[in-house]
Amino acid sequence: MIQTKPAPAVPGFDYAPSPETTPVKVRDRYGLFIGGDWVAPKSGECFATINPATEEKLADVAFANAEDVDRAVEAARRAYDKYWRKMPGSERAKYVYRIGRALTERSREFAVLESMDGGKPIRESRDFDVPQAAAHFFYHAGWADKLEWAVQSPERIHSLGVVGAIVPWNFPLLIATWKIAPALACGNTIVLKPAETTPLTALLLAQVIQEADLPPGVVNVVTGDGRTGSALVEHNDTDKLSFTGSTEVGKMIRRSTAGTGKKLALELGGKAALIVYDDAPLDQVIEGIVSAIYFNQGHVCCAGSRLLLQEPIYEEIIERLHARIETLRLGNPLDKNTDIGAINSRMQRDRIVEMVNSGISEGAHLVQASCPLPERGYWYPASFFTNVQPTHRIAREEIFGPVLSIMTFRTADEAIERANNLPYGLSAGIWTASGQLGMYTAARMQAGVVWCNTFNQFDPSSPFGGYKESGFGREGGLAGLRDYLR
Ligand code: NAD
Repeated sequence: MIQTKPAPAVPGFDYAPSPETTPVKVRDRYGLFIGGDWVAPKSGECFATINPATEEKLADVAFANAEDVDRAVEAARRAYDKYWRKMPGSERAKYVYRIGRALTERSREFAVLESMDGGKPIRESRDFDVPQAAAHFFYHAGWADKLEWAVQSPERIHSLGVVGAIVPWNFPLLIATWKIAPALACGNTIVLKPAETTPLTALLLAQVIQEADLPPGVVNVVTGDGRTGSALVEHNDTDKLSFTGSTEVGKMIRRSTAGTGKKLALELGGKAALIVYDDAPLDQVIEGIVSAIYFNQGHVCCAGSRLLLQEPIYEEIIERLHARIETLRLGNPLDKNTDIGAINSRMQRDRIVEMVNSGISEGAHLVQASCPLPERGYWYPASFFTNVQPTHRIAREEIFGPVLSIMTFRTADEAIERANNLPYGLSAGIWTASGQLGMYTAARMQAGVVWCNTFNQFDPSSPFGGYKESGFGREGGLAGLRDYLR
């Protein structure tokens, strides 16, 4: 049942529209970026990428089949043998740095394109995705000539060879750079497969890489869907696969690479718990919850999608959170005031609706922001569920949308047990005024990343990754760097 009681009144004011005006040139048609050139796909096929906020087609993009993937891997192998493996680290660093510089110089263009193709608010693509992507290139440029300091046996370090990288649609540019930057810094070449609904910023990055004059074939971009990804996974001339995406596909990849000797990193799904103790500063908690679950429409692998509240503060948090979600502005992703943009695709919107319906039918109580939804495009309002049982699907499965499941606890040990009681283990959030209680809880979280009194803090020097069914391997920091070395 959707709560009909109006949200408590909050003082507020209206915002005038503030649309982003930076012009971005989208080509009508994109080829594959292989061996330093734009080439037509051997498949002869292409697919449309659309703007999820308007449902308008943005461009036709080449579909890479197994033959195209083979060409890309061959180009990467040639570039590895001919140029990249032999190049001194200090030279490679210049190229990696140059890409970071170009990203910074063209940051608005990247941000606008990311929001058009993926639906995320420009405020996020402009202030988070693109600066973080550039920071990854700068950070790794710094490592390229110091790799012997990153490992314990410097005399034995070696690049891996050709890396196959497959990325999802929620942070298309950023997650691509998480893989490209360390791969290049460590002396590897790469074939990147972007997600089918968000290929455009990877293709713009390919243009930047072409203009940065990288030796041909060091970076290759093959666009397509799961079939293209699968061809890259099955290819027998890659030395490492780095996959970010769903746990389901990650398990398939693990099975098909078993026994091949390829290095593998899997960054998979999550269902993070936020534990809020009753001594926590509640104003900050509310903003922390908003950031944890409504950032990027909840399309975040580490989203804090299970809120565990200590019983004494339950009523107050629910009331305040209800008031706060009424103030979130949903609409045009290119408006600088927008908080909640478009859902990435019709398929994802339908998945959210299906999960929410399951929550209602299992007996949870739905509370939603009352804002109107635009007529065209894919949208979902900020929502949360109360009366959630740990056995409900909404408490156990990833929704990947702006929907939070709220439960309660009495003691720290109960909260810890509930938080860990899932196959996922990507991230967790803890709010308390007590340092001792925070440390006690953090030390017991089965999660790759634990944030205390904050959430969604990222830095290229800080490794990110999960365990259990959230995957293995790290991106960022020394741990991430070492994954690209033999
Ligand atoms: P997905 O697994 O469906 O797709 C991810 C990528 O894999 C896409 O490029 C897709 O085309 C490709 N792919 C699909 N089937 C494939 C196959 N059989 N073989 C090889 N490649 C294949 O996931 P998605 O829906 O795009 O992304 C959402 C998922 O990604 C969520 O579960 C989310 O939690 C996860 N994710 C994890 C992280 C992390 O760092 N742990 C980060 C972002 C997203």
